[in-house]
Amino acid sequence: TDPRTGSGAVASVDLDAVAHNVHVLQQFAGDAAVMAVVKADGYNHGAVEVARAAVAAGAQELGVTTIGEALELRAAGITVPVLAWLHRTDSDFAAAIAGQVGIAVSTAAQLDAVVDAARRVGRTADLSLKIDTGLNRNGVAEADLDDVLDTTAVAVAEGTVRLIGMFSHLACADEPGHPANDAQAERLRDAVRRSTRRGTPPAVVHLSNSAATLTRPDLGFDMVRPGIALYGLSPVPELGTFGLRPVMTLSAQVANIKKVSEGESVSYGYTWTAPADTVVALVALGYADGVVRRLSGRFEVTIGGRRYPSVGRVCMDQFVVDLGGGGSGVAVGDEALLFGPGDRGEAHAQDLADALDTISYEVVTGIRGRVRRRFV
Ligand code: PLP
Repeated sequence: TDPRTGSGAVASVDLDAVAHNVHVLQQFAGDAAVMAVVKADGYNHGAVEVARAAVAAGAQELGVTTIGEALELRAAGITVPVLAWLHRTDSDFAAAIAGQVGIAVSTAAQLDAVVDAARRVGRTADLSLKIDTGLNRNGVAEADLDDVLDTTAVAVAEGTVRLIGMFSHLACADEPGHPANDAQAERLRDAVRRSTRRGTPPAVVHLSNSAATLTRPDLGFDMVRPGIALYGLSPVPELGTFGLRPVMTLSAQVANIKKVSEGESVSYGYTWTAPADTVVALVALGYADGVVRRLSGRFEVTIGGRRYPSVGRVCMDQFVVDLGGGGSGVAVGDEALLFGPGDRGEAHAQDLADALDTISYEVVTGIRGRVRRRFV
């Protein structure tokens, strides 16, 4: 028996919504191809299933962080190009090359290791250069770029690598008018020019994440790399939803219902006291499942189409909601919705993100523990 099955908590993943979102993104991308970013187990939605749905809907490539994530997609029989862009010092580039995984390098040492591995495996590596154009995080630094481009040109000439791509990542894409976006695009163009001058033009150039795909079509280059929008969540909530459909719905069961008298307090620390006689429901989901304790009293759940506030502290395995004096007909076993697309009156992942002063990415990737995933 699976120990997770007891709680009744479910993250349902709507794969039709993934397909819808790919279509929306393709419309914004115009002629540029769509690389579906399915790192971190598909932003915790299930990398393999999301990848299959995205590819069936027209995504031409897949993006992940690690070679291990890429090989998981290969093991599932997915054959479209996959790009992995963050590596350990001992990353297994040979396994990546053997698995036809595209490798994005960010340092001269990584490039040397890829060239070495390609010689050992006896196959040409699919190389991309990740260029740091101003994020100052991953990517080839300007100071190292000429050396890396020289080494790449030699490796291409000897047939150990194919330069399939050159790309960068934006620092301020969620502020479409931020001057950094144009500055970064220009530095990427400059890197492409310098590589082309060495006789090694990259086959494909890409820059845009979800926010840039949706708000800066002029920065689309040959391909866009949306992640969060694939999952139906807006990267720029203040600009709207862009017609995207949220993919994940988080629900749990009402495990207990009881009356609480005026003046009685609820849950650890007695942080909430009933202002009048009321009925409360216990929902079987807690901070061990990713409903973080800081959400205590700051969110609402939907049961039978009506919203009820969380009261008192969120605990490890459960939290309490106030049903009001009559109990509203809620029964043990009813489904309580925490977030979803909103078509049953439930909150949106963005509402929880707002309550926590964070981004929706952290809400969906944070769901864990005893929550079972179900594809619908
Ligand atoms: N490209 C790279 C290199 C990334 O690291 C990420 C994720 O952070 C993405 C694309 C997708 O970003 P988003 O989820 O904001 O669309």
